[in-house]
Amino acid sequence: MVEKKIGMAVYRRDLSPVLAIFRLVPEPGSAFPEYAAGQYIALRREHCRLTKKIARPDGRFEYIPDLDENGNQKRGAVTHSYSISSAPYETREHGYLEFYVILQMHETGVPGRLTESLFQLDPLEDNKIVYYSRIAGEFTLERRAKGFRNVVFVGTGTGLAPFASMIKQLDYEAARGEPTKTRFTLFHTNRGVQELGYHNELTAIQNAKRFDFVYVPTISRPAAHDHHHDDVGKGRANNILRSVFGMPSKEVELLAEARSRGENVAEMEQAVQRLVPAQLPPHVSANQLRERMTPEDTVILTCGNPDLMIDIAKVGEANGIRVEREEW
Ligand SMILES: Cc1cc2nc3c(=O)[nH]c(=O)nc-3n(C[C@H](O)[C@H](O)[C@H](O)COP(=O)(O)OP(=O)(O)OC[C@H]3O[C@@H](n4cnc5c(N)ncnc54)[C@H](O)[C@@H]3O)c2cc1C
Repeated sequence: MVEKKIGMAVYRRDLSPVLAIFRLVPEPGSAFPEYAAGQYIALRREHCRLTKKIARPDGRFEYIPDLDENGNQKRGAVTHSYSISSAPYETREHGYLEFYVILQMHETGVPGRLTESLFQLDPLEDNKIVYYSRIAGEFTLERRAKGFRNVVFVGTGTGLAPFASMIKQLDYEAARGEPTKTRFTLFHTNRGVQELGYHNELTAIQNAKRFDFVYVPTISRPAAHDHHHDDVGKGRANNILRSVFGMPSKEVELLAEARSRGENVAEMEQAVQRLVPAQLPPHVSANQLRERMTPEDTVILTCGNPDLMIDIAKVGEANGIRVEREEW
């Protein structure tokens, strides 16, 4: 039976004002259920600021703060699923679950209900998180990647979470004399270097060479202070993948298609001008990466931004490679 339990956030590391890694320990006297890397759990906070859906004059919907008769935003419980970014061995050894979470922001500037509350967490004071005692999900290596010689992970933003769990677990197993024979490649993009969660850990795992793992971190909005990180490439994960296969960026492709249809392309031209061109980190070449993505024995697992996942699936299809997505 699934039970509602009250855990405690015992650790929080802010990677930016809108991105954090935090650890949750279970209700006193209990332990989290066993899980496989790639699975998720439902978390809940009780006093979230609630929103309501309204129709805009153009027929589209938006969510705005839900106010009571005194003009105060109503409060209530909100529950959502979160992929677990700790490895199963870490939970077994230390008891906690770890998460890599972004503060949701609606177009209107209203923060997401649960993440706003999670970002108020303070390990010393306001640290209670309700969770459900069931860990679920089919986005695991067993279910999505069994039998493939090459497994390619493409994580955008916090979509890294399930892959961080998998890579840490594989490294742990390799260190204990059970190295996988599968070749793993991880593409991860976030805005800046500080936001590349698990960057040092993943780099260390790659360099330790306990199993065949190549890590391809890139940033999509490089700032001046990012330039001294010469182990990180540039561009969004979908465009990096496109560049490996010699395909144009998504934005350039959309512009060409719109031009051929004779459409107004002013906005698309601006998007192409703003584009950060795809550039791989110096330790890998497109040739090396292509060699690790032979269509007949490769599967791409992707997680994160839904639009980018659609494009990644398109790249996979264009190159005859199977793609598996985690739907958030
Ligand atoms: C399997 C799974 C794993 C996930 N893992 C992660 C993870 O590791 N890290 C991570 O950062 N996120 C993850 N997510 C996303 C996460 O579950 C939440 O959706 C996200 O954090 C936003 O929650 P929120 O309450 O802050 O935003 P919300 O307030 O729920 O807003 C999110 C969207 O919901 C809609 N919405 C807003 N208000 C309402 C309302 N009143 N009623 C109905 N809909 C509304 C809007 O479309 C809005 O854009 C995962 C999702 C799934 C399904």
